[in-house]
Amino acid sequence: MNYLALYNSGELSRRIREGYRRLAACDLCPQNCGVNRLADEVGCCGAGKMPRIASANIHRGEEPPISGSKGSGTIFLSGCTLSCKFCQNFPISQLSNGTDLTVTELAGKMVGLQKRGAHNINFVTPTHYTPQIMAALFVAIGKGFRIPIVWNTSGYEKVETLKLLDGVVDIYLPDMKYVDDEEAVRLSGAPGYREINRAAVSEMLRQVGHLECDDNGIGVRGMIIRHLVLPEGRAGSTGTLPWIAGHLGKETHIALMSQYFPAHAATSTPGIERRVNAEEYGEAVEALEDAGLENGWVQDEPAE
Ligand code: SF4
Repeated sequence: MNYLALYNSGELSRRIREGYRRLAACDLCPQNCGVNRLADEVGCCGAGKMPRIASANIHRGEEPPISGSKGSGTIFLSGCTLSCKFCQNFPISQLSNGTDLTVTELAGKMVGLQKRGAHNINFVTPTHYTPQIMAALFVAIGKGFRIPIVWNTSGYEKVETLKLLDGVVDIYLPDMKYVDDEEAVRLSGAPGYREINRAAVSEMLRQVGHLECDDNGIGVRGMIIRHLVLPEGRAGSTGTLPWIAGHLGKETHIALMSQYFPAHAATSTPGIERRVNAEEYGEAVEALEDAGLENGWVQDEPAE
């Protein structure tokens, strides 16, 4: 793993210190709250100093290169830098339900999942805990941790924060949620999402390249972009998919998801109160094919 080289050279320690320094007036993500998280002040994400997790378990429902045959060691972080009206995990992401852990305890979860046979450690919604996760990795390496790190994110990321993760993360799993900034604000509280997101996935690709798998089809390095199709074209699929092909390359792996359902506040939010229909998902599949994107996963059409 590349993170071993960072560990051995002292670079991982330097990045952990830099990350913690930024928590004093937190600017880890584009929300730029400026709160002192070292004093447990909280900003939009609801996160303080200590990492808080909702669960740490083997998960088999991710894309095949992530779940493989033995499952992905999935650690759900509490809180989120977005506030999606349709979030399926509202109590975890927006109420910050979970358990505070020390960095050493988080490292113990990582090593424990490795011992249980997980192919990787899959941090879900990790951005606001970037320094704490790097610190946990440092401790975990000392305890024999060696499997790939997956960064499973909304894609609302600052490039300067991603640079802290260069060589730390093996596989990026970002969302590309919107092309319309007004929708990004209205539905997810994410100003400037489109350009921020596009810069983020470009930086991720620069760091890890396109997806590479081992002989068993298990991902070892690279990026998979997730795109959740929303009703009425509100995810901007016909804009995002050609952009990916043109700017990141047609070999980019895409998971085109049809499973949207109106969770949390979506039932009372105009335009997203219902599931995606077969026609809408079909348009997104057509956009994928027209763009020449052949790597990845398309789901069954949603039932009418
Ligand atoms: S990580 Fe949290 S506190 Fe920091 S800028 Fe982002 S939303 Fe605000």
